[in-house]
Amino acid sequence: MDVIITGGGIGGLTLALALKASGAARTIRVYEAAAEMRALGVGINIGAHAMKELSALGLEDALVATSCQPQDYAFFTRHGQLVYREPFGKAAGHQWPHISLLRPDLQRVLLGAVRERIGADNFFVGHRCTGVEQSSGRVTAHFAAPDGTPLPDQQADILIACDGIHSVVRKQFYPDEGAFKFRGYNLWRGVTVHKPFLTGESIARIGARHSTMIIYPLRRNYDGDGSTLYNWVCEIERDVAVPVDWNKPGRLEDFLPNYQDWVFDWMDVPALIRNAQQILSYPMVDRDPVPHWSFERVTLLGDAAHPMYPQGGNGGAQAILDAAALARFLASEADPVAALKAYEEARLPVTAKIVLQNRTAPPNVIVDTVEQRTGGKKFEKLEDIISQDEMKAIFESYQKVAGYHVQQVSRPQG
Ligand SMILES: Cc1cc2nc3c(=O)[nH]c(=O)nc-3n(C[C@H](O)[C@H](O)[C@H](O)COP(=O)(O)OP(=O)(O)OC[C@H]3O[C@@H](n4cnc5c(N)ncnc54)[C@H](O)[C@@H]3O)c2cc1C
Repeated sequence: MDVIITGGGIGGLTLALALKASGAARTIRVYEAAAEMRALGVGINIGAHAMKELSALGLEDALVATSCQPQDYAFFTRHGQLVYREPFGKAAGHQWPHISLLRPDLQRVLLGAVRERIGADNFFVGHRCTGVEQSSGRVTAHFAAPDGTPLPDQQADILIACDGIHSVVRKQFYPDEGAFKFRGYNLWRGVTVHKPFLTGESIARIGARHSTMIIYPLRRNYDGDGSTLYNWVCEIERDVAVPVDWNKPGRLEDFLPNYQDWVFDWMDVPALIRNAQQILSYPMVDRDPVPHWSFERVTLLGDAAHPMYPQGGNGGAQAILDAAALARFLASEADPVAALKAYEEARLPVTAKIVLQNRTAPPNVIVDTVEQRTGGKKFEKLEDIISQDEMKAIFESYQKVAGYHVQQVSRPQG
């Protein structure tokens, strides 16, 4: 079977590796729109469920070497008061680590493996897919160069569109979807070198409602002086969405004022933000789940299939889980059209649930609940406000829908 993958992001690269490992494809060609593979993006989280798949592809050591593996997850109010803390990743009993790393490092490891395993001459940059056609059991993909010049068509038995949030192929099948759904929040994301806080391998989620923040470590001993490279994301309620562009630079004056008094004994948030090496903005947008991803010999994967809010570490992980599942179906099912359908049936309902959960029960529900009950004031005794059991139930329920609860991940693959 000849396979075309459009998009050389996290999903497309993982799929190429999983297909190669499964032996399901005779040829695998990846076509990426960007003219060159540049180091773009800041931090990304890959949970134990997705690391299980990347480990099976022999990538765990390389990824662990270039990442942090957070050991606990802590929730704080906007006054810096700790409300809940849980062991995380391997410390929570997972066999595989949860890793936090720079997206460029993740892409570099995946791309290195793709070039080595499927051949560098099967990875094409400067090829933007502009549309697909199907006839007589084959798919034809049309391409354009970065300057818009048409490039020769390419044919295969199946095509998997891993072309991200602005997917051209999804638009071809759903031309009337319209604008993204905006939740009324924008994100400002950055990386800062800072001295370690809490365990040094902690994820901190602070605040609720109008202004929240998450901070997580990406690399320890970053400058060789014991400091850590941290990723942080500020989430603020706004009327108008910033552009849906992962590379859009953010401006301090647009969000720093909301955090001016967030100076705690364990973290000076304004200083963390001001000392950032890079600041980007992105809106909290998604799309309604669609009824189908697979159309005969073409299917969607990753953000092209299920654009979801960039929170809870889901974007990258779900693309990796899609890729692993699709490779398994293509290896076990002789008819590729049936395999693409089976993949859709397995993955669409699961990811649709995450899209909807992110809207109604985002990961910071714990602090939301506390701040609602305190009216946003400091509390004296936490146990008068909320019980540990209630918070544990909230924390675990998010993990279960996202599929990274320890009991789910320990099940056999597939
Ligand atoms: C430049 C960039 C920076 C990002 N930074 C972050 C970050 O800092 N943190 C984070 O959590 N997530 C980030 N993301 C998003 C994250 O990678 C995805 O949400 C997630 O990994 C799902 O992966 P995906 O493969 O579906 O999409 P992506 O990883 O977005 O990959 C899509 C790929 O398809 C390519 N492409 C787009 N259109 C076409 C086309 N028509 N033909 C061929 N190729 C096409 C894109 O150039 C991209 O390489 C970023 C995405 C991009 C593209």
